[in-house]
Amino acid sequence: MRWCLSGDGALTFDVTSTSVFARMREGRTSPDVQVLFTPASYDRSRFGQLEREPGMTAAVCAINPESRGTIMAVSLDPMQPPEIRPNYFSAPADMEVTLAGIRLARRIFAQPAITDAVIAETVPGLAIQDDDALINFARMNSSSVFHPVGTCKMGIDPLAVVDPRLRVHGVDGLRVVDASIMPRITTGNTNAPTVMIGEKGAAMIREDART
Ligand SMILES: Cc1cc2nc3c(=O)[nH]c(=O)nc-3n(C[C@H](O)[C@H](O)[C@H](O)COP(=O)(O)OP(=O)(O)OC[C@H]3O[C@@H](n4cnc5c(N)ncnc54)[C@H](O)[C@@H]3O)c2cc1C
Repeated sequence: MRWCLSGDGALTFDVTSTSVFARMREGRTSPDVQVLFTPASYDRSRFGQLEREPGMTAAVCAINPESRGTIMAVSLDPMQPPEIRPNYFSAPADMEVTLAGIRLARRIFAQPAITDAVIAETVPGLAIQDDDALINFARMNSSSVFHPVGTCKMGIDPLAVVDPRLRVHGVDGLRVVDASIMPRITTGNTNAPTVMIGEKGAAMIREDART
């Protein structure tokens, strides 16, 4: 009603209204964890539904993950969906970072600036403290933040699919210009870098057409 009547309030926010980027491991020069804050909490028993009670969510994301998944064609029929295996947490470092990120989120929510708005931690809940319990929680509850990249990576090595001008190696007149060409995932969300790839790709296509 507030949004309809005055055009302000919670519905004007992005789902993720704040992100924290932090370095959790010694020696890192760039962040390895992102905590995504949402001013709402989800009903865990019903997909896509909010809880009835007001709440907040801090989702912890290991960025630059070392785990590698696969996406494989399973049939010559292009209409058959491929087999996708994300292999989350197959690299131990990703779990180490996730645990550190959960503890960071708890530290943030214990700060005086926000404690007035906090009644209790419901998920995972303060009973879950030691590494084993947190690992079990992370394995049972983690999901994707929808940033898959790199299935057609750019480069000049044997695993590269496109060259630095985004031309498919060994196939004339074919380019790939999207998130799949990223050789590594970006440190954070992928949409803006994908727009950049699109603009850069379009510029290179124009340049090559002129020559
Ligand atoms: C639920 C969700 C939430 C996300 N939230 C964020 C966020 O908050 N911030 C952020 O930075 N990133 C976010 N992302 C990631 C971001 O959307 C992607 O990284 C980005 O859109 C990738 O762009 P792309 O062009 O590679 O692929 P896409 O955006 O998937 O574009 C592929 C296009 O190809 C079209 N297509 C597919 N098959 C065919 C075909 N056979 N013929 C013709 N066209 C075809 C599709 O319709 C689509 O338009 C989110 C992704 C999802 C799924």
